[in-house]
Amino acid sequence: MGKAELAAKVRKGSRVSRAEALDLWNLFDFTELASLAQEVRFRQNPEREVTYLIDRNINYTNVCNSDCSFCAFYRHSPKDPEAYVLSRDTIASKVREALELGASRILLQGGHNDDLPYSFYTNLIQWLSSEFPLQLNAFSPSEIHQMTLVSQKSSLEVLTDLKAAGLYGLPGGGAEILDDEVRKRISPKKIPAGRWLEVMGEAQSLGLVTTATMVIGFGETLEHRIAHLERLRDLQDRSLAAGKPGFNLFISWTHQFNERTSLGRSRHAAKYGAGAVEYLKNVAWSRIVLDNIKHHQSSWPTCGAHVAEIGLHAGCDDIGSTMMEENVVSQAGAPTASKWFMSPEELELHIRQAGFEPVLRDSNFNVVLRANDHGRSEEARPDGIASNG
Ligand code: SF4
Repeated sequence: MGKAELAAKVRKGSRVSRAEALDLWNLFDFTELASLAQEVRFRQNPEREVTYLIDRNINYTNVCNSDCSFCAFYRHSPKDPEAYVLSRDTIASKVREALELGASRILLQGGHNDDLPYSFYTNLIQWLSSEFPLQLNAFSPSEIHQMTLVSQKSSLEVLTDLKAAGLYGLPGGGAEILDDEVRKRISPKKIPAGRWLEVMGEAQSLGLVTTATMVIGFGETLEHRIAHLERLRDLQDRSLAAGKPGFNLFISWTHQFNERTSLGRSRHAAKYGAGAVEYLKNVAWSRIVLDNIKHHQSSWPTCGAHVAEIGLHAGCDDIGSTMMEENVVSQAGAPTASKWFMSPEELELHIRQAGFEPVLRDSNFNVVLRANDHGRSEEARPDGIASNG
């Protein structure tokens, strides 16, 4: 199909095939693709509004048996002097800080720690949900898989237990690239692509809030990337057809690597990573291909807030969250190593600088507050802009 017919097909709202998606990438430059993606964005989210979220990311343990080659966060042995499992006191004080900021969500993510019994997870969720008025979006499909190993339960049973304990959502971490050729090379001990999708499908069948993610820059090919997007799109089709909410958001970011990761130390390191234009082109491309996921996020932690502003003109209607702390991509060299917190005022300012109106949301895209309703953006000053762009 020629370029004009392809553009017309996207404008009409027709789904693109794998071959057409590859043509879109190869025939269109970034600005052309961004413009098409923005048409799709406004068809699905007509308001000139961009959402953001106040939350805190808490990494409850850094002990992990997966040894992913791109990770500098984990410690393999629980005896490592830097290995930790956060105490309840520490978690509680982090949650209180988040509440003081106005958070509606806590993200809990950690390594696959063989020393933690199943009751650690269920009790943690039970305790947090009974103590704090927050949406708990916790773990990832690979952490759920770890729980099946220590509990001898199925992943559906684990998810059912966690939901009964108060789990609100399952974030889409650990997807990286959903293609086993790539996964075997970068994280051979982690669950394969099919298992990630299976656990996500089960979470969606239970009505948990779920997000889809993608990390680019592992030396993957375009075919690997389109395979990833197609698998997400297929699962979303199945969940929506079953009357379930499916993924409410797609988020992508770039693989960060430094000498603290084995990929970063590899002699092939020059092949890894992705620049701002590559990231933004992938953002636009994903919006067009993933035609059944309503919200797409332009992510600030790895490429910086000013690149995230451009993403709002390449198909995205969300700029992410405050995070408050970040310990995984930051340790592998992301800008979040020096600046891991974006205040609500800064997020609003970046949204306004990009030409949109900020809207505070929760993790299920319920509107918490429109900026005009509380005047926060009037308080924001240019000298408050994050320096990690
Ligand atoms: S990325 Fe996650 S699963 Fe992989 S080693 Fe790091 S903590 Fe473990």
